[in-house]
Amino acid sequence: MQSPLHGQMMDMPLLISSFMTHAARHFPGIEIVSRRHEGDLHRYTYRDAEVRMRQMASALERRGIEMGERVATLAWNGYRHMEAYYAVGGKGSIVHTINPRLHPDQIAWIVNHAEDSMLCFDLSFLPIVESIAPRCPSVKHWVAMCDPDHMPRSAIPNLLCFESLLAEGDPRWQWPEFDERSAVGLCYTSGTTGHPKGALYAHRSTVLHAYAASLPDAMRLSARDVVLPVVPMFHVNAWGIPYAAPLVGAKLVFPGAHLDGKSLYELFEGEGVTFSAGVPTVWQGLLAYVKDHLCKFSTFRRTVIGGSACPPAMIETFRDFYSVEVIHAWGMTELSPLGTLAQLQSRHARLSVMQQQRLLEKQGHVVYGIDMKIVDDQNRDLPWDGTSFGNLMVRGHWVINSYYRNEGGNPLVRDAQGRSWFPTGDVATIDPDGYMQITDRTKDVIKSGGEWISSIDLENLAVAHPAVVQAAVIGIPHPKWDERPLLIVVKRRGADLTREDLLRYYQGKVAKWWIPDDVQFVDSIPLGATGKILKTRLREVFADYRFAHSGH
Ligand code: AMP
Repeated sequence: MQSPLHGQMMDMPLLISSFMTHAARHFPGIEIVSRRHEGDLHRYTYRDAEVRMRQMASALERRGIEMGERVATLAWNGYRHMEAYYAVGGKGSIVHTINPRLHPDQIAWIVNHAEDSMLCFDLSFLPIVESIAPRCPSVKHWVAMCDPDHMPRSAIPNLLCFESLLAEGDPRWQWPEFDERSAVGLCYTSGTTGHPKGALYAHRSTVLHAYAASLPDAMRLSARDVVLPVVPMFHVNAWGIPYAAPLVGAKLVFPGAHLDGKSLYELFEGEGVTFSAGVPTVWQGLLAYVKDHLCKFSTFRRTVIGGSACPPAMIETFRDFYSVEVIHAWGMTELSPLGTLAQLQSRHARLSVMQQQRLLEKQGHVVYGIDMKIVDDQNRDLPWDGTSFGNLMVRGHWVINSYYRNEGGNPLVRDAQGRSWFPTGDVATIDPDGYMQITDRTKDVIKSGGEWISSIDLENLAVAHPAVVQAAVIGIPHPKWDERPLLIVVKRRGADLTREDLLRYYQGKVAKWWIPDDVQFVDSIPLGATGKILKTRLREVFADYRFAHSGH
């Protein structure tokens, strides 16, 4: 084969440090505002932030943190967390964000598996750190993310203060250039079954993901935006926002630990937030607050909702009562995380409002950089007809090719052309316009009489009932049908709602055989560490539950 003629273009490696050098140089006065542990608002600019990031990177180097070493964080969304992202990643080490809502035993397991050398934590997580420190021998330094005045009294060995550590660094230190395929971030999957597995992102994949996330048919981010990520920076890098915001020059607002409706509303209004992102459960608190207090949003115009299925009722409430556009999105840790987003295209302009609404309720269309398909159990392609459902497979620039330390072996599946695909574990349909809709996680679909029932569809309908706050549907073993759906519901306080009301409510809305066999009212539904309904826990709670009747 002849050797290719190379293009005569500059060859600059795609490194995350370039987001901050760009923002500091071209958007120097744009602010990063953070609600701190102390409760006050901290504000500074991209220019100030970038200097501190370099200074911190230099301090880490002086403390002997090498390229490729892992530095963990246990922290809320805030400016020091963002500084840790860039200081660690920009110098060639790996920022390993850990979800503090996990059980301390699981956190210790993850720290040991990743062999983190340093762990930076917000003061609210001091009890976790105290409990895991004796069990994590790889961690040479524990860094409290505060100033010297707020340093806790603690017996943790090698406890450092973030601000004192930063002061050890040289603000004249410059970002190094290295191979763009070097690792920059490590996130563990939620691990609802077995131990969690790590997704190890590269600089190149992270930069490409941030470009794509900003596109008009993705998050539509621009220098006109004020972005408040409600999604935590420990949930797949807040879906890439800490990288995409400086890329476009958007103002950033970090809510810290204060995620209740009132605190969020005040921050949205006070800082002129235009765009946000989060899982469905976090919006319930904000929507309840604005409803109870008859508030409106003066600047908030759109939000990405994903991580689990966004109920259509939530999309409607945001749109009809608050003029906020919901962009429903699907992704996963293994995809950095963005895969698809639901927005209309020019060819949909003529559709009725109802038809448009149906499209926007789906998980959406791929962004450039991701390809997808659905296959049957023999790995044969299924048609894009909007009704055939099968296993969702993806490939692309920001999809993992293996888990950290090759845990679980090679996850990829090859097609006849020899191309590799990542099996997502989701079951989905794809319509002729390329809009994907998730039916369920493979392990959550309810198999009834050889057919499948989508628990997501039944849950979406239930939460659209005015007397229902939260709903989950699980399959219960059934002697005749294999499995039948059980609806588990949290009622609105004081609501007069019976089992019969709910079952009647499904009539005419779904096929008769989809209607759940029973309803159980509960005080709360267990949520996992990223705010998703914990079906595994619900299945344990209802392990001995059996329907009173055997037919339906
Ligand atoms: P995680 O890696 O913990 O973020 O979980 C990824 C999984 O969350 C996906 O494989 C889906 O099962 C689920 N998920 C993410 N976004 C959505 C969505 N918009 N609708 C339904 N399920 C979703």
